[in-house]
Amino acid sequence: MAKKFHHITRMCVSCRDKQSQSELLRLRCSEGSLERYVGVGRTFYLCASCLKDEKKLTRSLMRQCKSGDKDKLMNKLKEIITDDR
Ligand SMILES: [Zn+2]
Repeated sequence: MAKKFHHITRMCVSCRDKQSQSELLRLRCSEGSLERYVGVGRTFYLCASCLKDEKKLTRSLMRQCKSGDKDKLMNKLKEIITDDR
């Protein structure tokens, strides 16, 4: 049985740290590219400290999206983050 939490926590795919859902950036992969979460599809989470660690981040994104095109993934991520402000 899965353990129940009072707060909704999700795991950052990069550092595997569990944090409150509101603290994490939710993303999804679509055909080897990155997208903002829109309600469907497989999603994953990244925490704020991992977003600052580009090297770690690149590895996690490539693994999640099963893509080797790290420049494309990183550019897309920057777009998504910038859009958010
Ligand atoms: Zn993290």
